[in-house]
Amino acid sequence: MKITFCCTDTTPGPWLEGLRAALPGAELSVWQPGDPQADYALVWAPPQQFMDEQAGLKAMFNLGAGVDGLLRLRLPPGVPVVRIEDAGMAVQMAEYVCQAVVRHFRALDVYESDMARGQWTFYKPRVRRDFPVGVMGLGVLGQRVAQALQHFEFPVNGWSRSPRQLPGVTTYSGAEEFDAFLGASRVLVNLLPLTPDTRDILNAKTLSRLQPGGYVINVARGAHLVDEDLIAQIDSGHLAGATLDVFRTEPLPADHAFRTHPRITLTPHTSARTLREDSLAQIAAKLVALGRGEPLTGLVEGSRGY
Ligand code: NDP
Repeated sequence: MKITFCCTDTTPGPWLEGLRAALPGAELSVWQPGDPQADYALVWAPPQQFMDEQAGLKAMFNLGAGVDGLLRLRLPPGVPVVRIEDAGMAVQMAEYVCQAVVRHFRALDVYESDMARGQWTFYKPRVRRDFPVGVMGLGVLGQRVAQALQHFEFPVNGWSRSPRQLPGVTTYSGAEEFDAFLGASRVLVNLLPLTPDTRDILNAKTLSRLQPGGYVINVARGAHLVDEDLIAQIDSGHLAGATLDVFRTEPLPADHAFRTHPRITLTPHTSARTLREDSLAQIAAKLVALGRGEPLTGLVEGSRGY
């Protein structure tokens, strides 16, 4: 089995070592233009030339959960694309989102800035039932986040493309139930894939439908959010603030208005990192399953964009 590795922003050595340990018989290489056809590929942000030259792959493994970057390329027809499913990302996402929700709900950001100014002030405790959290996207990550939020006893709503049942979560689905989902939510967590249907989905119209004092947590992709609409909604007082991990341009430009906004908390696309060991174990298990002719999970459907 020939496996090629084509990841533009990752050092290949440790990945190849891990693959060699998991699949001792495999022939491994780091892709170079003009290389012979491989059987399988591990990819992250590969160039178009890779796709054009490796059109005979039996499958391609994307080293992340989101495939929006990959689907921007012209993919060779008929090559299955497999994405990472969880592999240690869901628990990271759950801890990140829960800390952001709790930090806002408990006014920890306000206490922090009070303390920095030498102030010692108590604020009235907030009421949990007044902070329903809406999770957009009830896939691998969204489900784990919705489940984790329930441990803190927040009311949780969820929205997906197709109807989903999740214990303890009030679920909504499809475009026709989107407004009802937004109206029932005060804190909004975005965990959608970036597709033609979801680009710019957090905009003036949709953000204004959130309950007053709303809060936005974007951990999916920067292009889901219309930046200036978020700022306008915060500055008008309709929204209380936002925690943002992903941006239209990354790194976030030094002069972007988010950088200095007092109600916006930023992190550098770090809410759920691809973990090498867990991801390699998952990919190796899937390669073995493929070899046995077993069906795979995590297959991307190009027509729906995720
Ligand atoms: P999944 O594919 O498992 O889940 C996607 C969910 O979104 C599904 O519930 C799906 O609905 C729903 N969805 C898709 N399109 C629509 C739509 N048009 N309307 C309503 N719901 C829709 O993905 P993951 O949970 O694994 O990952 C989600 C995203 O998180 C990734 O695509 C990526 O962009 C982002 N991410 C960010 C990271 C970070 O560090 N910031 C790290 C990892 C991922 P249905 O259930 O009906 O299919």
